[in-house]
Amino acid sequence: MSLPKHTDSAFVQVIVPVPIEKPYTYSVPPEMRSQLAFGHRVEVQFGRSRRYAALVVGFVEAPPSEHVKPVLDVIDDHPVITPLQLDFWRWMADYYACSIGEVMHAALPASFKLTSETSIYLLPGHPDDFTDLTDREYLVIQALRNQEELSLDDVKKLLRIDTVLPLVNKLFRLGFIGVQEQLADSYRPKVQKYLRLAPAFRNDPEALHAAFELTQRSERQTQALLAFVQLARNRVEVLQSEVLRKADVKSDVIKALEKKEILEVSEREVNRIAMDDELPQVDIHLTPAQQTAYATIMEQWEDKRVVLLHGATGSGKTWIYKKLLDQDLDQGGQALYLLPEIALTVQVVQRLQRTFGNQVVVAHSGLSNNERVDLWKRVQEGAPLILGVRSSIFLPFQNLTTIIVDEEHDASYKQSDPAPRYHGRDAAIYLASLTGARVLLGSATPSVESFYNSSIEKYGLAVLRERYLDVRFPDLHFVDLRKHKLTKDSQFSRQLVDEIGATLERKEQVIIFKNRRGYAPVVRCLICGWQAMCDRCDVALTYHKYRNNLHCHLCGLQKQIPIVCPDCASNEIRLEGHGTQKIEDELKIIFPDARVSRMDYDTTRRKEAYHKLIDAFEQQEIDILVGTQMVTKGLDFDHVGLVGVLHADQQLYFPHFRAVERTFQLLVQVSGRAGRKETAGQVVIQTYNPTHPVFADVAMNDYQSFFQRELLSRKQWLYPPFFHLIKITLKHKVKGTVVGAARLLAHRLKEHLGNRVLGPAEPGIARVRNQYLMDIGIKIERKPQASASVKKLLREQIAQLHKERGMTTVRVNVDVDPG
Ligand code: ADP
Ligand code: ZN
Ligand code: ZN
Repeated sequence: MSLPKHTDSAFVQVIVPVPIEKPYTYSVPPEMRSQLAFGHRVEVQFGRSRRYAALVVGFVEAPPSEHVKPVLDVIDDHPVITPLQLDFWRWMADYYACSIGEVMHAALPASFKLTSETSIYLLPGHPDDFTDLTDREYLVIQALRNQEELSLDDVKKLLRIDTVLPLVNKLFRLGFIGVQEQLADSYRPKVQKYLRLAPAFRNDPEALHAAFELTQRSERQTQALLAFVQLARNRVEVLQSEVLRKADVKSDVIKALEKKEILEVSEREVNRIAMDDELPQVDIHLTPAQQTAYATIMEQWEDKRVVLLHGATGSGKTWIYKKLLDQDLDQGGQALYLLPEIALTVQVVQRLQRTFGNQVVVAHSGLSNNERVDLWKRVQEGAPLILGVRSSIFLPFQNLTTIIVDEEHDASYKQSDPAPRYHGRDAAIYLASLTGARVLLGSATPSVESFYNSSIEKYGLAVLRERYLDVRFPDLHFVDLRKHKLTKDSQFSRQLVDEIGATLERKEQVIIFKNRRGYAPVVRCLICGWQAMCDRCDVALTYHKYRNNLHCHLCGLQKQIPIVCPDCASNEIRLEGHGTQKIEDELKIIFPDARVSRMDYDTTRRKEAYHKLIDAFEQQEIDILVGTQMVTKGLDFDHVGLVGVLHADQQLYFPHFRAVERTFQLLVQVSGRAGRKETAGQVVIQTYNPTHPVFADVAMNDYQSFFQRELLSRKQWLYPPFFHLIKITLKHKVKGTVVGAARLLAHRLKEHLGNRVLGPAEPGIARVRNQYLMDIGIKIERKPQASASVKKLLREQIAQLHKERGMTTVRVNVDVDPG
């Protein structure tokens, strides 16, 4: 049987970025046939009135039914994805039990997904040459000058034509317009001014003197330049607004400096990470221990696709990665360097740029729509090194040869919502099997799964025990909170306070870690116990100091704090619990002379703020840094003498099969932030359960002991790595409906799977955004056929459920390998 040549085909199969299981077939009008090939987008009507940019994935000679709609227009003259990407998407839909449309939606940059809902706006800095534009295209530009944004329906009306996606795509491609998914709904990238030194003054202190001479006659210019130099200590570029604030001058001063050709001003969308091609390049010299680990990795890669690098905190894993990448890039490959969260790893970006300069392309969740398309193109053109978060596995790699998954144990590799609920590490390993790439997983605290895979020799293993320059491992002290009771308003034991005092005295820095989970500050009535709850979700509202109101951390609802109790009308309403803010306040009272700052979601929502905090801490402008999980990740500071952990038990007693694993990882990672070249760092851990064996493992830095114990318990309780888990969540706004649906689904699944099915059960938080939730769990033996057939059964049973009366609107989310 010969496949039809695409140009002969009268029908195409397309996928549309909506939750639909299978490709759809459309007919192709004869005049378009020669323009179509795999991976092109076409404009189609889907449903009653909506238009989509759909992706061509196949050609057929006969339609599946008589009612086939025609393709309305062809958008691209080149493919936007590769066949390999489609294979990857198919695997993902299959493995994570979702639809190919959902994967497409997650994978493609928003600007590729033109729909009737899309709106367009004039891009700042668009070309001013219109000669290549048709009259119609020019008309759209004119209209956008008068009106800030247009929906695609507006464009249709304006031009009186029916298909506008190709035209919109062209204007987008030429850089005239920006595209957003919905009218004014999603955020529009803000353009800001950035300053950098003119080339003549860069990298040369002498030249900088000359610059200051040029500004001698103006005090304000000198101020501004000085402010710039101070702010630019660790950066190439600085936001103009920062300089203005610091120097307390107006923007005309910057204009003057620009005119004198001292500073360069560029306008860019916020968020783009500055590339510096002029950073001094650093050569890579590995220590003997690193060299051995490196050689082991190379050797293991000979016959294993995946190798795990188990390297202590501070052992120099990044340097081994660099060496591997360097060698890879020499051979013309493409490498993907995955990180759990890019905002938290500014330091890694800078370090890689120091070695690889502008070969590094950064992909993170803060990119604007236009930057995403830019990124897509650069990867298509073969960008050699891509540094990114989990979603960068969807980029259109041409020749992917190496994938590094740094901090492979990190929970933020898992996407929990929406579908596809994939694990970035696991998906990357599958992707590597498609492209023939080698994979290195790196961690000081490997996940139980990955270490298990090494122990059964499915993965290779390289170990790096020593810290770089033999920096000593920290001394750990446990404070037994049962013996040393905390006072009512305090979070700090006497020992910890003393240790902080001694550290400050030595002019060293302190990090205080507070688990994100638990004890957010809540509002309670002292008389009747009433607590402020969200109206739409089953959770307490938490107090936010900077707005002085209450927030729901699930749905974002905000409320004022009531003056009297709504239940008993008393006015004894109090704040309760201990957020990082409260800790910061307490520290300021105990150590009035210390400079205390806080790093958590509130203080770092803006990326600039995060950079600033890190810079300030690095420059020792902060003595004590209070933080949540953020402080445990990827940071490397030179002067931290003490790390304090306030409540080591919060994670430990969280009802989750990974509770012990997460506790071990967290404590080892957070302790890893302490340590100086000369002296061992100190770590003080406050706990109510100092005898729990996990603490001994942490204290001895004994991964093996932790792993063996954990493995036994996983085996006993049928958890990963011995069993696969699938979590099914049902949602509906009527409680009775969701309970009924969950019982029915669980019952039917049990008919096939018996006691592998757990529940249904009401989850800890039983209502979110006015939807009631029910959970069902499934545990499956770790055999590929077993899990494939269970997923097939699941799809059938969910489809069946949706046919039952009254249950069509029950939402069913499937989470394979839940985090
Ligand atoms: P890890 O990621 O294993 O915790 P890092 O890669 O962050 O460790 O290394 C810890 C510190 O040691 C960093 O400051 C790093 O620059 C330094 N370092 C490690 N190896 C080398 C090396 N081979 N040459 C120079 N500096 C190194
Ligand atoms: Zn009350
Ligand atoms: Zn809520």
